[in-house]
Amino acid sequence: NPRRTPLIAGNWKMNLDHLQAIAFVQKLAWSLKDANHDFTAVEVAVFPPFTDIRSVQTLISADKLPLAFGAQDVSAQESGAFTGEISAAFLAKLECQYVIIGHSERRTLHNETDEQVAAKVAAALTHNLVPLICVGETAADLELHGPSAVPVAQLRAALAGVDKAADIVVAYEPVWAIGSGKAATPEQAEQVAAQLRLVLQETLGQDVADKTRILYGGSVKSSNIAAYMREPNVDGALVGGASLDVTEFGNIVRYLK
Ligand code: PEP
Repeated sequence: NPRRTPLIAGNWKMNLDHLQAIAFVQKLAWSLKDANHDFTAVEVAVFPPFTDIRSVQTLISADKLPLAFGAQDVSAQESGAFTGEISAAFLAKLECQYVIIGHSERRTLHNETDEQVAAKVAAALTHNLVPLICVGETAADLELHGPSAVPVAQLRAALAGVDKAADIVVAYEPVWAIGSGKAATPEQAEQVAAQLRLVLQETLGQDVADKTRILYGGSVKSSNIAAYMREPNVDGALVGGASLDVTEFGNIVRYLK
């Protein structure tokens, strides 16, 4: 779709300390530049742990690297007595463009609710961060409710407080496909992405629905990325495991080659 620049996003999860992050980002930027990657044609973003972000920011701004970056989570609160939390204001100060919200690991391991996800999305938008909102069904959901019911409900809930001009990204990540090697088929990804775009249209209007990128995530690698990118409603990928290998992640970014 000419109105949407594809986005390849690497979710590092709890991997790479700040020294490893510097080495990784340098290698990634150099190898993509070496390969003449057109960063305006396919945007690249990395999501390091909080403790890496200052180092990544410094490197990217000093060397003017054409990479975007963001955090893997954010607090819904502005500041105060919330031990261990990180506010959207802090992330904005570090020049994060994006923040992942509602990743399935946070929903399951930290019992994050749809209401908390919605509050975090609102907090991110207040500070002009683009929330990368993750939705997706478990294997049990899939069996009980079919493919799109849970992701559709999660997206509706996440958008509860979002106004119509919002700049957001949505990631469809079936929980059964994350880290399992059992990726959804491109047809499955497209089917749910199309339903999610309808939700965007109903809640935020046609314009936002047309311009919002919907990513697929779940066992994406260099050998399957191109097939997802051929689907009309899939505008990129959120990559976990395969984003930790510079060569492999670079090859995913360069899916057009
Ligand atoms: C993820 O956790 O966002 C993800 C997609 O992981 P993986 O690529 O390892 O399945």
